[in-house]
Formats: sequence, structure tokens, C-alpha cells
Amino acid sequence: MRWTQTIIPTLKETPAEAEIVSHKLLLRAGLIRKLTGGLYIFMPLGLRALRKVEQIVREEMNRAGALELLMPALQPPEIWEKSGRYETARDVLFKVRDRAKKEWVLGPTHEEVITTLVAGEINSYRQMPKNFYQIQTKFRDEIRPRFGLMRAKEFIMKDAYSFDSSDAGAQESYHKMYNAYARIFQRCGLKTIAVEADTGVMGGKFSHEFMVPAETGENDVAYCDGCGYAANVEKASSNVTKTASEPSAALPEKFPTPGAVTIDALTKAPHSVPAERQIKTLVYVADSKIVLVLLRGDDQLNEAKLAGTLGSTMFRPGEPEEIFTAMGAHPGSLGAVAATLKGDGWAIYADERLKDTTGMTTGANEDGFHLRNIEIGRDIKVSKWADLRLVQAGEPCAKCGQPLKVQRAIEVGHVFKLGTKYSEALHAMFLDETGRQQPAVMGCYGIGVTRTLQAVIEQSNDANGIVWPISVAPYTVCITPLNVAPESPVMQLAEKIYAELTSLGIDTILDDRNERPGFKFKDSELVGFPIRIGIGEKSLAKGEVELKPRAGALTAVKVEDAVSAVQALVRAALGA
Ligand code: ATP
Ligand code: MG
Repeated sequence: MRWTQTIIPTLKETPAEAEIVSHKLLLRAGLIRKLTGGLYIFMPLGLRALRKVEQIVREEMNRAGALELLMPALQPPEIWEKSGRYETARDVLFKVRDRAKKEWVLGPTHEEVITTLVAGEINSYRQMPKNFYQIQTKFRDEIRPRFGLMRAKEFIMKDAYSFDSSDAGAQESYHKMYNAYARIFQRCGLKTIAVEADTGVMGGKFSHEFMVPAETGENDVAYCDGCGYAANVEKASSNVTKTASEPSAALPEKFPTPGAVTIDALTKAPHSVPAERQIKTLVYVADSKIVLVLLRGDDQLNEAKLAGTLGSTMFRPGEPEEIFTAMGAHPGSLGAVAATLKGDGWAIYADERLKDTTGMTTGANEDGFHLRNIEIGRDIKVSKWADLRLVQAGEPCAKCGQPLKVQRAIEVGHVFKLGTKYSEALHAMFLDETGRQQPAVMGCYGIGVTRTLQAVIEQSNDANGIVWPISVAPYTVCITPLNVAPESPVMQLAEKIYAELTSLGIDTILDDRNERPGFKFKDSELVGFPIRIGIGEKSLAKGEVELKPRAGALTAVKVEDAVSAVQALVRAALGA
């Protein structure tokens, strides 16, 4: 490709809308343009890089034995009603109406569609295992689309769905995908870590997310250098010490705490109650019922764990007024002591760290008062114990005891062992060896293809621009002649090398713009082509050209060695 024949609208200034480096660089390098918030146009070079990521994904999925198909993005709501997600996924579903005013769904994911397909096409254990995948546009009504392609309303996902006749088979399908994902991200030049992920209300068996460590990520990952344990903090647990308690016969005693409505305020004089001796009482509304959630004063609630415990994501923090009506006090003076609650039958979920504690302090359900000498069990009737707390950096790893670290990360892929939830709901049944009807055992596997592309840039850039790995670069080589007059020896050599590289199948762009060298070099560094060949009169007089790997040092090579030097670099990078 000749630079003047394509369009690479590079920008000197950083557009104000972009907050993170990869988003800035996508815009500045002219790879994408914004249509409106959460919707982007891939420019010719951006699309080339995207297609390369897609191709790597496709090759590795095929290698793992998955079958490519293509499903409609437009989906009938009936299948979403059958799976129960028309309600639970309501917030992310884009809905459209046809001329008859009937409602349709723009697919955020395709479990419902693929399971409907399999219900009709697969009916014997002999036809399994099967794993179907597609690379397709997804729609999600994100609360906060941001960071360019990272969280968009419309994005490209590779989604795969496996169907097995046994649990052991499903496990094997899962591991195949796990390994394929590791290869895919490695080939894209991305460093990822696979972390245990929350299976929450999906009710699945187990799950891993592939995370790209980055401060701009929207996830926190807890990991241990000692044993390799790594988990999304939504799921992570640690080996925290129990709260020390001594048996005491002291009975609850009310004391005034005017104005002290936070854990922190109560730690100060004149009350001086350490945070670890306080019980934090949170009020949630689940299924229009009030639920009390208890944690140690210095712990934070992990909402994903609460969702898992409740078996639903359909809950929300209570509003101040409904809390007052139910409890008789405002946040800051709330508690779960039975004697202070109106009536009984309260749903009280408590974090395991509070088990067997005595001598605790909590709100009295009377504004401006707390109760001390509280003993869990005697004074508070817990309905269910669960791990509900958020893990903190420095806590001992549950497996080996070393201190955990916490790091921000971008989720690029997700593998999930689903079990039979969807096959049961959508009747994907098969006959097993003994002739019995069974639901297929499923797994689902997603890669955000557009997010992966941006994550590559987030991880690989410098002050001058993008540093593409060869595997996904829009063009591998940029030839920069310093004189573009057609009859000049410099341009003639540029044309010759361009023709040779192109005929060898190496993606090459010839910067034929009649611009100053510095300007051209800056642009090619901004766009981030992995290899630049600079050709100028001075070096040509010595029979040389300049070879500059984007991430390496400039070297002079003999004119006749230029092509083979590029080939060697490409081979080293792609292992081909
Ligand atoms: P997130 O937690 O970031 O919202 P998710 O867990 O809802 O993502 P999945 O349903 O697991 O996403 O989808 C599979 C993959 O699709 C994710 O790992 C991510 O790479 C990508 N993805 C999800 N939502 C978006 C989005 N709004 N924009 C771009 N990519 C996305
Ligand atoms: Mg996910």
C-alpha cells in the first residue's frame, strides 16, 4: 500500500475525549474514529489490525476443533424468556421493535440462540462433543461506555459454546479452550494472567478470566507470588485471622453516640471502639425484601459474593427512607440485634469473620445510640454465614500463606463451565448410551476481539506512539524514502524493496508523501509499524539503507541485504 492512496488521519494533539493511553493512540494514529459515545468506526489501518487479531483467534479455535458458524445478532425475546434472562439481563439488553410493534433483542451474547440450535440438531451422545464459535458484533447497553473500544455499546466478540454428553467431557472441552486462549493472547503479543473468576448467579461450576495487567483496567486481581494463586477480587478469598474474642457474660448495653455515624467516628474518643470490634450493618433490598448484611467494621462488602450467596443479582442498597421505615433508624445507627428489630423472620447474612465473636459494638436502631457487649448468636440471630468480604492486599494467601498482591487488570477473555442451566431451560436434550434423555453439559467462552486489540496498545506503547507486535500490526514494514521524486535513485530503490517485500507476502506500506523526513518518521512511529526502512541519499551513497525496528536501535544494512534482514526479523517474531 502507498501512504498517499490510503487514509491515515494522524493527529498531533490528543483528543480531549480520550482518558487512557490506548484510546488516545487509537485516535491519534488514525486507526479509529468516534461516531458517538460507545460507537466507533474502524479506519482502514485499524481494520487491518482487527482482522489480524480475528485471524489468530480463528486459527486457534479451529486448531482446538471448534466449528465456526454465524448467528443472527437480532434475536427473538421468547428464547430469553425461556432462559429467564429477559428479566435478569434487562439492564444490558438493547431492544428494538419491528413494524408490527413486536419487540426484538440485539444479542449481547448467544447462549440462548446456540442452545436453541443444538436442541433441534443434536440428539445423541454420538454427536458430541461439539464446540461452535462465531466472531460477531455484540450489543450491550453499558451503563458507562468508556475508554474507546474497551467498553463500547457495540463490539466484536468471539463467542464459543461447547456441548458434551458428560461432566468429564465438559471439563475437557473447558481445558481445550483455556489452552487455546493462552495461545491466542500470546500470539497477539499480550501478557495475560488467567485468574479464577466469580461464577455468581450463572450457577456455573468454574470459570477463569484472562486478564491483562494494566492500571487502567476495570478489574482488581488478587495474586500470590508464592504459589501462583490468582483470582478476580470478586472471587478471591484469603486466610484472614478470626476476630479475637473472650467469653464474657456481659449483657448488651446501650450508650449514646450522637453524631458518630461512621465506623471511623466510633473509633475516636470518647467512644474509642476499634474498627475490628464493630459490626457494620448494611441494608439491601432483594426481591423487595429487606436483607441485613453484617461485616466486621474494618471489612468491605464484596457485592459479587453477596450475589452468589443470594443466588441473584437482583438486589440493591436500601434507600434512606425505606431503611428508616424498616429499622426505625438511619444508616450510622443500624444493627441486627434481635431485641432492637421489629418482629422476626429477618434475613441476616453475616461474614464468616464474625463467627463466635463477643464483645462487639453495633448500632442500636435508634438514631444516636449504639450497643456494646454484643455476642453473635446470643444477641444476633444469623440466617446464613458466608464469605462476603473483599480481600485486601497483604492478607495471607489461603493456599500458601504468603501475602497477596492486588493489581488492576483488563479482562480480555472469559471461559466458563456452565453445566446444564441453559440446556435444561431450552431443552437441549440428548439420548445417552443407555437410551436415557439427558441435558447437554455446556461451556461458554468469550474473547472481546476489539477490546483485545486495544489492550495490545495499552500494554505496548512508548512516548512516540504504538509499538505493535508484528503479529497484529496493520503493516509490518514502513518504507520511508527521503526523496519521492519518481526518477530519483532513492525512490527507485524504495519501489524495488517495496515490490520485493510485497511479493514475499510481507505487509508493507510505502510512505510516498512529499513531506519532511522528520514529519514522516514521527508519523510512522506514532502508528507504530514494527520495522522501518529509511532510504536517503547519504546512506545510499555508501550502498546502505537504515533499518529501524520500532522497539530497537537503528542499524545500517547493505542495500542487497535489506529484504533478508526484514525476513529474519519477521521470522523471529512469528516463529514462521
Ligand atoms: P465486563 O466485566 O468487562 O463488562 P463481561 O464479563 O460482562 O465484561 P463477558 O460476557 O464475559 O463480558 O464477555 C466476553 C468478553 O467480551 C469479555 O471478556 C470482554 O473482553 C468483552 N466485552 C464485554 N463487554 C464489552 C464491551 N462493552 N465492550 C468491549 N468488549 C466487551
Ligand atoms: Mg466476563
